[in-house]
Amino acid sequence: MESSIKDLIKRAAEDLANSKYAVAFTGAGISTESGIPDFRGPSGIWTRDPEAERRSYEIFGKFLRNPKEYWEEALRSPFFSILEQAKPNPAHYALAELEEMGIIKAVITQNIDALHQKAGSKNVLEFHGGITKLRCIYCGCRFPREDFSKEIEEKRIPMCKECGSPLKMDVVYFTEPIPRDVYELSFEEAMKCDLMLVCGTSAVVYPAAELPRVAKRRGAKVIEVNFEETPLTHEMISDYLIEGKVGEILPKIVEEVKKLRERQ
Ligand code: NAD
Ligand code: ZN
Repeated sequence: MESSIKDLIKRAAEDLANSKYAVAFTGAGISTESGIPDFRGPSGIWTRDPEAERRSYEIFGKFLRNPKEYWEEALRSPFFSILEQAKPNPAHYALAELEEMGIIKAVITQNIDALHQKAGSKNVLEFHGGITKLRCIYCGCRFPREDFSKEIEEKRIPMCKECGSPLKMDVVYFTEPIPRDVYELSFEEAMKCDLMLVCGTSAVVYPAAELPRVAKRRGAKVIEVNFEETPLTHEMISDYLIEGKVGEILPKIVEEVKKLRERQ
């Protein structure tokens, strides 16, 4: 590992150890080492198949027009079974450990794969929803997906237990608004934090990409861990970028934080 990267890892550990309220903001890049492809990275789904990007803009409209057809298709995508079977990688465990140590107070994720929770993170805000739940877009209620396995298996439309409307996956599709509760909580965290650790996101999907910008405007330090530079790097929203694999860098940051704590 290059010495400049080692220095940045030490710097990030010091910044985290000195922070009062750190939050992590994660994207698809934190799960590629769990075998889930991202969208826009070098071997991302859309980088390889631009047509898939176009199709993804049609799913929400389909749910609104024809929930039955939506449910016939929703769980059939090969991407869905990849997500279901994936296991957390060292990057997810590193963030869970930083939370356990009392340093990271919340993980705001754009991912829908629930790997942060599987790794043991407790305060996870799923900005784009998650695959383990169903949600009613009319009254906002969420239900565990397993409560509706029978309906889903029999290709019947799952109905909201509160208001009787058709349910969809909790996952937020393109063109669908972000659910108000998670939107508000995430922006509160971004306004409150004094450090935001941004991991594996290209930071181009809005409104999520606004979160590090809000944190920066409120005076927080913003640290990026990514394979490559992003608009946050170019616009100097991030104080510095640690370039490399999240699964290697985040555990090293945790090691350094531990060393700092031992010395205190
Ligand atoms: P993105 O695909 O736009 O960007 C991922 C970024 O992470 C890229 O900059 C890439 O270079 C970097 N990256 C990939 N692997 C990395 C690694 N191992 N180490 C360091 N950096 C790495 O992803 P995004 O910004 O999260 O936006 C895509 C949207 O698609 C999100 O809203 C998300 O909801 C959704 N999505 C989710 C999943 C998932 O749940 N795992 C997977 C794909 C897409
Ligand atoms: Zn409802």
